[in-house]
Amino acid sequence: MNVITMTSWRPMQRSEAGRALRLEADGRPEPPRDCPRCPRLVAYRTANATANPGWFNGPAPSFGDDNARLLVAGLAPGRTGANRTGRPFTGDHAGQLLYATLAKTGFARGRYDPNGDDDLELIDCMISNAVRCAPPGNRPEISEEAACRPFLTNRITTLSRLKVIVTLGDISRRNVLKALGLKASAGLPGHGTEFEAGPYIVLNSYHCSRLNTNTGRLTPAMFEAVFERARALL
Ligand code: SF4
Repeated sequence: MNVITMTSWRPMQRSEAGRALRLEADGRPEPPRDCPRCPRLVAYRTANATANPGWFNGPAPSFGDDNARLLVAGLAPGRTGANRTGRPFTGDHAGQLLYATLAKTGFARGRYDPNGDDDLELIDCMISNAVRCAPPGNRPEISEEAACRPFLTNRITTLSRLKVIVTLGDISRRNVLKALGLKASAGLPGHGTEFEAGPYIVLNSYHCSRLNTNTGRLTPAMFEAVFERARALL
């Protein structure tokens, strides 16, 4: 696994990032339940709420330990996953592998239920998404990533013990870098790469999506190795 110290960009101090984005997003690490920032996603949320009033149908809040040293950053809730259950990665295919892997590597304990009806706890770990509302086709627009980014910045900033960020997929990697005030090109793409980003170490993984796991692009062993590496870095 490559360890690259990027020296061509200026590391963003934690206080600088937090101050700049707190002004924009009122310091919130989590969006309000009725966040209006993305008209397309609000319309999708509303349509989902009409069709499935028993679902969560809102910005999925981060889940985990407020004292976490590890943050797992995904892309966006799935319509029938976190948009349905209200907890990141809960109820979709990606969550099965993610939560099983976190349990295996000591970052989770308890029983996982795809409806969230469980006693699952994260240990020294928090999970969040770059975009908090489910996008049609699982594809947020660039403007929606930008609109939601202050919440990601604030989420990162308020984790005072945070050391390592695992990004799931390249869009997540780019959003984490931008959330830290860095250029998306500052970090290495790909699976199993790692680099310093300000005070944090970013570990990239392919997304644990059904497509990636069914095609063998990401195996459980590859995924587990990322979290074993995170463990070693803490
Ligand atoms: S995606 Fe983020 S910024 Fe956009 S409406 Fe949802 S919570 Fe608000």
